[in-house]
Amino acid sequence: MDKELTYGSDYKYIPATSVGSGIGIQVLPDVFSHTIQIVNICFIGHPEKEEFVLVDAGMPESAEMIISAAEEHYGPGAKPSCILLTHGHFDHVGAIIELINHWKVPVYAHQTEIPYLTNKMSYPEPDPTVEGGMIAKMSPLFPNEPINLGDHVQALPADGKVPNLPEWRWIHTPGHTPGHVSFFRDTDKALIAGDAFVTVKQESLYKVLTQEQEISGPPRYLTPDWDSAWQSVKTLESLKPSAAITGHGLPMTGEELSKNLEMLARDFDKIAIPDYGKFTDKYKNH
Ligand SMILES: [Zn+2]
Ligand SMILES: [Zn+2]
Repeated sequence: MDKELTYGSDYKYIPATSVGSGIGIQVLPDVFSHTIQIVNICFIGHPEKEEFVLVDAGMPESAEMIISAAEEHYGPGAKPSCILLTHGHFDHVGAIIELINHWKVPVYAHQTEIPYLTNKMSYPEPDPTVEGGMIAKMSPLFPNEPINLGDHVQALPADGKVPNLPEWRWIHTPGHTPGHVSFFRDTDKALIAGDAFVTVKQESLYKVLTQEQEISGPPRYLTPDWDSAWQSVKTLESLKPSAAITGHGLPMTGEELSKNLEMLARDFDKIAIPDYGKFTDKYKNH
């Protein structure tokens, strides 16, 4: 293993799962969502062209699962041309080092997210006191120390273009993290939203387990900037996406998506922002 690449000292397997774990869903002819325990990764690329990109890198110790999912869709020995990160939380970079070592491909993230991926900055500690459920309560167990990808991670091009995906552009959607991005394709309005919003109540162990669909803001225990998070949901809603793959929960499409996203953008203070919690007191207790 490349010595330059290190996970944080608190990196570990997290024993949380859902009924969707291990299951892949073809959302569009060239867009596949695949659930790793409680988080989704996404493959973009037509299987017959054997060229594809991976978005996000799953949970700790999930590299084998991700590699076999890639080979299932794109054939034995298939490897992506690059890995795109929506943000650097542990459940989106859990297998990144093994994947870099196995595939030897570049990784891209927003410029503002790179300090968190190169051991220069730490995300705020998760908030177990936030309104929500059991996942929020267990969030202090989650790895939070920064990983170091050294110069294996590069900034996304400043002009909004996405490496290896000419039809797509990235959109800065901060709030959940400062350098959070979503990926959007104008031709069919496909959206990969990361944790800018999700389709499951990610704080609730029961709802995560059952994957009951319900539009939600970003996971509450790890979202420090609710003003930006709301603005980001408004930005995504204004694109009128036709299909959304979110970091957590099942893909949402069509009218169900437009109706729910409109509601979330309008009533974000009621639906998304928790009534209490260390990141929200300034919004609700004044
Ligand atoms: Zn996150
Ligand atoms: Zn997440």
